Amino acid sequence: MSLRCGKFAIEGESSSAVATYLRVKELDLIFDLGRCPMSFIGTGHVFISHFHLDHYFGIPIYVSQRWLNGIPPGNIYVPKEGADQLQDLIERISLLDCGKVWDYQLTPVEAGDALPFRENLVAHVLPLDHRVPSVGYLVCERRDKLKPEFFGIPGPEIARMKQNGVTVTNQVELPLIAYLGDTHTVPIDFHPLLKQCQVLICECTFLLPEHRDRAAQTMHLHLDTLPMLLEMFESEHIVITHFSRRYPPDMIRERVYAALPSEDRSRLQLLI
Ligand SMILES: [Zn+2]
Ligand SMILES: [Zn+2]
Repeated sequence: MSLRCGKFAIEGESSSAVATYLRVKELDLIFDLGRCPMSFIGTGHVFISHFHLDHYFGIPIYVSQRWLNGIPPGNIYVPKEGADQLQDLIERISLLDCGKVWDYQLTPVEAGDALPFRENLVAHVLPLDHRVPSVGYLVCERRDKLKPEFFGIPGPEIARMKQNGVTVTNQVELPLIAYLGDTHTVPIDFHPLLKQCQVLICECTFLLPEHRDRAAQTMHLHLDTLPMLLEMFESEHIVITHFSRRYPPDMIRERVYAALPSEDRSRLQLLI
């Protein structure tokens, strides 16, 4: 499945309790890795939301396939609670597989961290609210922007000033994509740029009124929250993921679209 969201394509699958794995090739990143298709092996950055099997079980394949193909280890970011156990698991699996420990790179993260990656990107770690420790990610592009006091000055003169050591730019961040994996709440106020992200990927596991209790118990979002969520986010593209397997695709479309004001339908896509 591939969904076009402006300049990005969101590729992958997401089904509650089965597997969630999403790639944004343009940013060389993966959000969650419940399974690992071979096409994802070359992608360099993996951001894991939490340690439920359907969100991280593809990691050993990702690590081993890169190792076997002579590709340097990718950067795998995981919640700090559980990072040691994952490390132990990868090492045991690799010993079982080939008698050696594969090269790999794990970075434990927690809410509030800012993770610079590639040349000009940064992932801000967001707190989520789930049955096990869970985090979301807001990926921003860092750009140098001319300070207002230098507006209108010709280019060659700006270049001369730069050569003379004058700082003519400020660094600004442009919010590109936010990923909210399994959660019962939305951390809208945690980062000032979150509500402006161009693309929001968010779970909505439960749809029917009789599943409200189930959503609360298992700490997932319910369709009841979706209209409020759409109001909070200014995003041009919103991708809804992680629907419960109990709902057939036609029913998901029907229920979700019926719950939304018509002006919001055009910016919403469903990953079914
Ligand atoms: Zn899940
Ligand atoms: Zn979960």
